[in-house]
Amino acid sequence: MDEKKTVLIVEDEKSIVDILQYNLKKEYKILTAYDGEAGLNAALNQKPDIILLDVMLPKIDGFEVCRVLREKGHNVPVIILTAREEEDDKVKGLELGADDYITKPFSIREVMARVKANIRRTTAMSPGGDGAAAAVGGGLSINTNSRQVFKHDTPIDLTQREYELFAFLAANPGTVFSRSDLMAQVWNYGYVGDDVRTVDVTVRRLREKIENDPANPALILTRRGVGYYFAGQ
Ligand code: CA
Repeated sequence: MDEKKTVLIVEDEKSIVDILQYNLKKEYKILTAYDGEAGLNAALNQKPDIILLDVMLPKIDGFEVCRVLREKGHNVPVIILTAREEEDDKVKGLELGADDYITKPFSIREVMARVKANIRRTTAMSPGGDGAAAAVGGGLSINTNSRQVFKHDTPIDLTQREYELFAFLAANPGTVFSRSDLMAQVWNYGYVGDDVRTVDVTVRRLREKIENDPANPALILTRRGVGYYFAGQ
């Protein structure tokens, strides 16, 4: 069955677009955009399954593209391509709702692995799923069919990564996971670099959305020096 997923590549360097397209087209349908405005339009109108998004782009930069997408409620996985090693760029991208980032220069193998990992998360979603939401404590409930989290029956707007992190922690209440564990389990990476800060940023964003007082979390707790866990019931 031809159910190829669609990858939108937003990047102004043609040589990079070409190499990505060449490698990804074997497995995915490819859309391309060479500036931020075209990229945003393609993302909004053509509904890709994943976006590879450069930061430094003509017209609108990648951060803004990501911000607008999230503001409009689009939860498509976004992988930021950052030319700089700077931690600031990575964190800023994640703060704005990106799911992941890749630092240029990248290996094609790494890109392929990350695209696959990010798409795999979304294909777990069952199409028309309703089903009942299961209470997980703290006034929160989760519907793993529709992949929604509710707080006192009101749906919370989570990115896919935030959902994944929450679902994983909530499925294992009281179990403390190191950031490396979470990278492996939630981000599907079989290795751990200095990327563990990604976990911290995502936990912070999640707390802002689900905790009554994000500064004093009661649901997703830190075990200092060890990791994070869900307090649950
Ligand atoms: Ca660029």
